[in-house]
Amino acid sequence: MQADFHVHSVFSGDCDAPMEAQIQRALRNRLDALCFTDHLDADYPYTDVDFTLDTSKYLNALSGLQKTYEGHIRIYRGVELGLLPHLGNYYREYCEKYPFDFVIGSTHLTQGQDPYYPAFWENRASRACLEAFFKDTLENIRACGCFDVYGHLDYINRYIPSGEPEFSYSDYTDLIDECLRLLISTGKGLEVNTGGYKAGLLSPNPCPDILRRYRELGGEIITTGSDAHFAEYVGYCFDRVYGLLEECGFRYVAVFEGRKAEFVRL
Ligand SMILES: [Zn+2]
Ligand SMILES: [Zn+2]
Repeated sequence: MQADFHVHSVFSGDCDAPMEAQIQRALRNRLDALCFTDHLDADYPYTDVDFTLDTSKYLNALSGLQKTYEGHIRIYRGVELGLLPHLGNYYREYCEKYPFDFVIGSTHLTQGQDPYYPAFWENRASRACLEAFFKDTLENIRACGCFDVYGHLDYINRYIPSGEPEFSYSDYTDLIDECLRLLISTGKGLEVNTGGYKAGLLSPNPCPDILRRYRELGGEIITTGSDAHFAEYVGYCFDRVYGLLEECGFRYVAVFEGRKAEFVRL
């Protein structure tokens, strides 16, 4: 069974892909399940993109598609929240209000900036940038308890400028281990996101060392996601990532329905 539990659509401010196009691609790739996780990044400071989400309209569209594709592919209703420490209560109330199947918590901002933008890296050592990112990640996990699975934990790795040292888990073990321990002790899962391959890395996000460490510390809840903003990336590199998960010691992946994990053998 292959399940893509991180896909965007036209409901996300940074995506033009119609939901139907994403579903058609999932069918072509013979995926068994597809969970849309469009963006809600409250208080996102950049004005060139709007990361608010028209949640009622979004969920209605998904309900319609669930009916249309019944018997062909399982479609789930998710959301990707851009976490910030002051948004814990706001997101908790938001998640109680809407009937999501699945909620991803992600860190897209550190020190008020998104590492996606080159300006973030200007005039700073990349080591300090990464340290700040993982400190903020830990802070976000502590402050926001409403998500099911933590998204692309080493997201920042996608955007390290060329010429800077490569990211290595071993340089940030204390901070990353604390994040993993906190996720495990609060019953949260970890996402493996193939957007890393798409960004030209040799690994998904997070990298295999972090996946292995999560397993070693007792973590068992893993979801697989492509982070596709274009149809051609739905289910991207899934054969590769399923093999990698087995190598890292996992025997099951999780799918979520009504916020509850169901475990499927790899
Ligand atoms: Zn994200
Ligand atoms: Zn995403």
